[in-house]
Amino acid sequence: MPHDHSHSDDPHSLLPSDPALRVKALEALLTRKGLVDPAALDEIIDTYENKIGPRNGARVVARAWSDPAFRTALFEDATAVVAELGYYGRQGEHMVAVENTDAQHNMVVCTLCSCYPWPLLGIPPGWYKSDAYRARVVREPRKVLADFGVTLPSETSVRVWDSTAEMRYLVIPQRPSGTDGWDEEALMNLVSRDSMIGTALAGTP
Ligand code: FE
Repeated sequence: MPHDHSHSDDPHSLLPSDPALRVKALEALLTRKGLVDPAALDEIIDTYENKIGPRNGARVVARAWSDPAFRTALFEDATAVVAELGYYGRQGEHMVAVENTDAQHNMVVCTLCSCYPWPLLGIPPGWYKSDAYRARVVREPRKVLADFGVTLPSETSVRVWDSTAEMRYLVIPQRPSGTDGWDEEALMNLVSRDSMIGTALAGTP
């Protein structure tokens, strides 16, 4: 058939296949032409990685800690509750909140690729997308937790939630003691990105 060709004949296969390589090439070109400032680029990436995204999730957690009605609604229908806060969009369409307790600690992975609740947590960290994390967290979640510096009591079970395009998970970490009466902003500062993936606990006051 005239339009039938093997992959190796495809001119596209001559281009770098790794998107990261293409991005680096583009960045180098734009920087050389003076069209972008690398420091500004770093700033934008840092904003999405560390500020906007996780801050949204942290607000949800802080409110769940301090507002019982919000908490109930969140566990009933997280998608609707977070959408009401304006946290919706790509990769955040179907949200489920899972609560850490003394009895159960929750961790989130995407074993197939890197599904992640972007509107709540921003851009996934590199380790979340790594083969090592995706394979190991299912087999040996406690060892993975130990690598992150977290040791749980033996009576706490660990449940791992596998994300899909249909379902994304937000871990609600346990509220640290000594935070009675704290307002939402103060509580938010104890909620790290990793604590909402389940590879960390909330910070202590
Ligand atoms: Fe995925």
